[in-house]
Amino acid sequence: MQAVDDPLLSDFQAQITERPLMNSFGGLLQTSNLIGGKWRDANDGTTIDVLNPASGVLLGTVPNCGEGETRLAIEAAAEAFADWSRSNMSFRVGLLHKLHDALLDNCEPLAQLLTAEQGKPLAEARGEIAIGAAYIRWFAEEVRRAKGEIVPAPTADRRLMVTRHPVGVVGAITPWNFPSSMLARKLGPALAAGCTVVAKPASATPYSGLAWGKLCQDVGFPEGVVNIVTGSAHAIGGAIMASPDVRKVTFTGSTEIGKVLIRQSADSVKKVSMELGGNAPFIVFDDADLDAAIEGAMISKYRNMGQTCVCTNRFYVQAGIHDKFVARLKDATEALKVGDGSEDGTQQGPMIDEAGVKKVEAMIADATAKGAHIVTGGKRHAKGGTFFEPTVLTGATSDMQFATEEIFGPLSAVFRFEVEDAAITAANATEFGLAAYAYTRDIGRVFRLNDQLEYGLIGINTGLVTTVEAPFGGLKESGMGKEGGSQGLDDYLETKYMCVAGLDG
Ligand code: ADP
Repeated sequence: MQAVDDPLLSDFQAQITERPLMNSFGGLLQTSNLIGGKWRDANDGTTIDVLNPASGVLLGTVPNCGEGETRLAIEAAAEAFADWSRSNMSFRVGLLHKLHDALLDNCEPLAQLLTAEQGKPLAEARGEIAIGAAYIRWFAEEVRRAKGEIVPAPTADRRLMVTRHPVGVVGAITPWNFPSSMLARKLGPALAAGCTVVAKPASATPYSGLAWGKLCQDVGFPEGVVNIVTGSAHAIGGAIMASPDVRKVTFTGSTEIGKVLIRQSADSVKKVSMELGGNAPFIVFDDADLDAAIEGAMISKYRNMGQTCVCTNRFYVQAGIHDKFVARLKDATEALKVGDGSEDGTQQGPMIDEAGVKKVEAMIADATAKGAHIVTGGKRHAKGGTFFEPTVLTGATSDMQFATEEIFGPLSAVFRFEVEDAAITAANATEFGLAAYAYTRDIGRVFRLNDQLEYGLIGINTGLVTTVEAPFGGLKESGMGKEGGSQGLDDYLETKYMCVAGLDG
């Protein structure tokens, strides 16, 4: 069930070479910030502790930067933009290919660092590094096709040209659940397009982002093109949003914070791309291939301990297959190996923090009080800390908390339904619209689902849809803009139209 086992990733998996570490995380653990090509600490010397969520052990500290340091980073990025935006495309593409290679060459230490700060199983971490590298390669290729247009002119004396240009300095704010690949989806198109970047990784998982800074520097990106700042989200986010020099902000995180940033973007009319929360339905029809549905359910539910924005939040299972599906889901869930992500064979690591565990506990309490039945799991794991038992619960109903809120934990909530229309109506009954999954062998129904499901990503007979070639992004309150695909570059390019007149004279 690990991401790296998926056929979509096998291409990248083949390129990964495992090698013993020469020292701690291959020298990629950076405890300072990258600002204007220099590694520096917070102005006041304060730091933030970074803990390993599996052991609670202190991994190290990072600078607790704020407004002043962020302004410096923006200034450096604005200064670097002048040359970078006008550099040869072949130069930028060459550096991106070097970055891709450096990521794969360092896959093992990067994956170990990611597991150490985030908790996910090492196999999933390796998959994340590999797909991050693949995004960099994709955008290095895609920018070579970022064509403009010559438009037919209404009069003979004119020529009309549509050209594309980098938007400017980009602010990139990333979450803790995919601290490496979320940065890849933003850095890749920004750097390819000719933009410079000020990135703020999540405070729980800053080391993966700082390692990107180190690799960018090592492969030769010019000073100020990539800046990585850690510290107060409010202060750093505030400085990014307030600066007229930052022309675009790309954010992955909660809908709540996304709305704050959209409001803040109004003052300087910034472009924004938002990858926000989800509440994915997973619909299993009576005609589904049960083996495939269970495989997809495990991938879509339990990847990263249920802490992804495309994780299944609500299973809707048709009455005729419901009991068989639940029995198989129970067995598969109970077979998951829970442990420290760095140990061989671990499939479920710890959750990121105590707040995440408490949220899942509260949702289970709410559901059981309203009549849900726990089939397996349901409580904290005997391992302690933030480990939680992978849980399956049946008898879910629309008045339970998880019907409308994102669980973000290893809890499978199973609803029963009778007819197709009821499942689609229930699936759409949320303000979110990121990922939806369905298992059926009825081709007519597949197209009805495509028409009627209000979701930006739809997986039919698969629980994993993310791939660099396709646009990733949500509808409704799940966000705006796309990452990946040819669309993933569009948000980083401005379109200009030039009219050349007087050509007859
Ligand atoms: P999550 O629940 O996934 O942590 P958040 O939306 O809280 O989602 O955080 C996602 C990212 O946004 C993190 O890097 C976090 O530090 C940052 N963030 C949180 N609050 C703000 C804010 N007010 N302004 C800018 N960034 C913020």
